Amino acid sequence: MMISFLGAMSCVGASGILVESKGTRLVLDYGTKPRETPPKFPLPVENPTAVLLSHAHLDHSGALPILTKKYSTPVYSLDINKELVELLLEDSIKVSREEGYELPFSSFDVERTVKNFVDVRYNKKIKIGNFDVTFFDAGHIPGSSMIFLESEKTNLLYTGDFNVNSTRLIEGCEKDLPKVKNLIIESTYSDRDHPERVREEKEMVRIVDETVSNGEPVLIAAFAVGRSQEVLLILYSYGINYPVYLDGMAKKATTIINKYKNLLRDENSFEEALDFVTFVEPKNRKKLIKQPCVIITTSGMLNGGPVTYYLKKLHKREKSSLILTGWQIENTPGRILLETGKFIDGKEEFEVKMNVNRLDFSAHAGRKELFNFIEKLNPDKIFCIHGDHTQEFAEELRNKGFEAFAPIANNRVFKIE
Ligand SMILES: [Zn+2]
Ligand SMILES: [Zn+2]
Repeated sequence: MMISFLGAMSCVGASGILVESKGTRLVLDYGTKPRETPPKFPLPVENPTAVLLSHAHLDHSGALPILTKKYSTPVYSLDINKELVELLLEDSIKVSREEGYELPFSSFDVERTVKNFVDVRYNKKIKIGNFDVTFFDAGHIPGSSMIFLESEKTNLLYTGDFNVNSTRLIEGCEKDLPKVKNLIIESTYSDRDHPERVREEKEMVRIVDETVSNGEPVLIAAFAVGRSQEVLLILYSYGINYPVYLDGMAKKATTIINKYKNLLRDENSFEEALDFVTFVEPKNRKKLIKQPCVIITTSGMLNGGPVTYYLKKLHKREKSSLILTGWQIENTPGRILLETGKFIDGKEEFEVKMNVNRLDFSAHAGRKELFNFIEKLNPDKIFCIHGDHTQEFAEELRNKGFEAFAPIANNRVFKIE
């Protein structure tokens, strides 16, 4: 088996890996670096046999139309991803128009990509060319997978993005994995542990209670797929009794996820949580900010989406609150706000007087979990990707006696056996 890395090397974004065996060429994910304008793509790849998609997030799926357009490549993934990918790709086209750059694909190509999806199921081995392929639950977002490849008497596990621990929304990743010889692992949190989840949940509920009892709205910025639904479930399970609204792309994502409830940890509580949330029509936004309530909306890092509308209206109100629900990547408006107290939208700048908080509801394995996961699997070779500190992570693993690499963009081909 031969592996070439096409992206997500020493960084997060533009995931893409080419795995070859006797003429079968499988591409694992083909995403963009969505937070760069214009987005960056993985290295080009010729004549892929198939793409195996770990999950719908754009850093894994955003460049798929480039391949399907040119080669009509089939895309193997769980059925929910067809709809989620369509939603996110269409949105990426919309954003490109708003920001004035052109993507190398159109809505027509997105449609074609979606038509090329081939549904797979967890834990069911399928044959693609010279490979046996099994998708395992990755516990990251609904429909996320780890991908296990077997060929030529060796094997490879690609974790995609994964979470070991269960969240309110979904169970943690598959624990009963086969003996893995070669491991490609995401390293997003290789340098830090997550705070205790319950503490973060309680803090969110405390902020919400305090703000609402002051008669003010709480704005919760969250990613559309996964995080918005997680936040909703937390609020629901703590039994809050004031109006909760969902706005932006999170609405459509929630509707899609609701169609695939079998992927969730608890179908009933998701349905119940949906009963107590109201989807916001854009024309009603003005009314919401006049009342004590919770508004969950996109984007998670404040770069676009209805959250920018609400922030511009609320930024002067000292008693209202903003909660950021995840890591804020450098140079995003979310990160800049945390560092400077200012919200920047294009050329406009706003002094934010609201009570601003960042909480950690990450859907990735933290440092401790990454090391435990590796020690339990005990693979022969490890490739660290999808992180800002992959070199240090590989170095630490080598110090523990593992054969570990952190590929860089030098077109090196790794032969594994
Ligand atoms: Zn992801
Ligand atoms: Zn990712």
